[in-house]
Amino acid sequence: MSNKSLKYFFGRAKKEKWAIGQFNFSTLEQLKAIVSAAKKLKSPVILGTSQGEANFFGLEEATLLRDLYRKKFPYIYLNLDHGKDIDLIKKAIDLGYDCVHFDGSGLDFQENLKITKKIVKYAHKKGCLVEGEIKSIQGSSEIHKELPKEVLLEDIEKAKEFVKKTGIDSLAVNIGNLHGVYTKSIRLKIDHLQKIKKAIPIFLVLHGGSGTSKKDIKETIKNGVVKINVNTELRIAWRETLEKILRKHRGTVKPYNILPKVISAIEKVVTTKINLFNP
Ligand SMILES: [Zn+2]
Repeated sequence: MSNKSLKYFFGRAKKEKWAIGQFNFSTLEQLKAIVSAAKKLKSPVILGTSQGEANFFGLEEATLLRDLYRKKFPYIYLNLDHGKDIDLIKKAIDLGYDCVHFDGSGLDFQENLKITKKIVKYAHKKGCLVEGEIKSIQGSSEIHKELPKEVLLEDIEKAKEFVKKTGIDSLAVNIGNLHGVYTKSIRLKIDHLQKIKKAIPIFLVLHGGSGTSKKDIKETIKNGVVKINVNTELRIAWRETLEKILRKHRGTVKPYNILPKVISAIEKVVTTKINLFNP
């Protein structure tokens, strides 16, 4: 078992100005790629499962494999990403997830606050961290052609109240970040992040690490972000590499001849991101 908690690494990252990557997975190839990159770079890493990914892969499978891989490299943590289903969130906590993200952004502010507070109480009893979200982060983990019309920015006063009353450990911030990869470039509002950092003493999380420029990523880390979520770029590497190999080797039916190349393509993306998130 890991002897250093995720909270310990969040604290260190905040002090030393670096960020822990959360990389989502729903297949064993993705999982192997993430763990391999983390182990080689000796960097703590968060394995993310969204509800869809968790339902497909299995919460139990995810926790058992995390425990297994921890024997090879101890600093591997699990987060339930964008949890909305309370039963699924509770199950993840009971099974030993290190963190759960309750996404109550679709609810009205008071309702979100009330439920988040309950989840925090439940999770903290079992040593699990909770990430909260107030305003919905736009986009989805795919390739998009058009940018949304309006840029969402966190309401600082509301965020202060939310953090104080719920007791969450981290907050998924809105600073112009979007889920997914865009054909047009996105610019983050770093000045708004600075205001959030001043007002809120907890750990800050950046969703939408896939389509964001290297410069903006570096700026967010300098200004208090300690966790960055990446999903779409891993999915693209998975699909593009798999398609290429299947086309190239039409006669092959052996998975163990095909999938190692998929794993190394994903591992390359994870390695680049971990290096970017570190000083
Ligand atoms: Zn997200």
